[in-house]
Amino acid sequence: EGMHENLMLESALRVAVERNELVLHYQPLVCFTDVGMVGVEALVRWQHPTQGLIPPYKFIPLAEETGLISDIGLWVLREACRQMIEWDEAGIGVGCISVNISVQQIETGLLPKQVKEVLQDTGLAADRLFLELTESTIMQDPEQAAIAMSEFKSMGVKLAVDDFGTGYSSMSYLKRLPLDRLKIDRSFIKDIGRDTNDEVICKAIVQLAKSLGLETVAEGVEEEPQAEFLKALGCDVAQGYLYSKPVPAPELANKWGRLTRKQ
Ligand code: C2E
Ligand code: MG
Ligand code: MG
Repeated sequence: EGMHENLMLESALRVAVERNELVLHYQPLVCFTDVGMVGVEALVRWQHPTQGLIPPYKFIPLAEETGLISDIGLWVLREACRQMIEWDEAGIGVGCISVNISVQQIETGLLPKQVKEVLQDTGLAADRLFLELTESTIMQDPEQAAIAMSEFKSMGVKLAVDDFGTGYSSMSYLKRLPLDRLKIDRSFIKDIGRDTNDEVICKAIVQLAKSLGLETVAEGVEEEPQAEFLKALGCDVAQGYLYSKPVPAPELANKWGRLTRKQ
């Protein structure tokens, strides 16, 4: 990518939030035991006026470099919680909502207050919100992360480690932080059935999580044999193309929503 192109993208991204160009897609999290949806992950996309739908890997790093991620992250949080209430009011059950959090949102120290406000404004129950932090986000500033996380915990918000196994492998934070869930990175899932090393790693992660009382989510499950293997290990929840790609809100509700009352 040229510098010019990056500058263009940056100035366009600056106004994207105000112009309502960001959209959320939702991917179901499916319970291995009763094969029902237990929640959804909100994943941001940029509906660019001329370039079409831009995936997050093309603009989230830029948003992080330029500090725009704080505004974008707050928009995502608010929109995801708002959507949950809209589904509730329509009598459509989707369970919990997961929102990705970037390292800068932790660094500013503003996030706990923002989360509290968004929950108050939207009326979403705190225990239906999962915040996803990667290992590297946590390890960037473990002290600050621990402070924020204990604030989230005291509000009743749930916490997940995203892309588990790919960051620094400081295991000590696992027992110190008030975590609820580990999400096993897709890189360990994708070769299940072909690579015994990956199978051993998945088994170890599930066992570690179980002994620490944490729920496990397998990311990027694409094939039935992978699901069978993970289920046999005692992994709790799956997310992946085998079930569904991330889809716009109406499609998620149509295909996955449980009717919570007569329509
Ligand atoms: P993530 O949080 O680990 O999200 C999971 C990613 O894996 C999503 O990519 C999802 O579409 C993809 N995925 C799920 N199942 C499968 C599968 O079976 N096969 C394959 N090949 N991929 C699968 P997506 O939506 O492109 O998002 C990529 C990353 O961008 C996310 O990874 C997250 O780190 C970041 N991201 C997305 N939305 C946000 C956001 O609102 N805020 C922040 N800070 N980051 C976000
Ligand atoms: Mg995530
Ligand atoms: Mg992930």
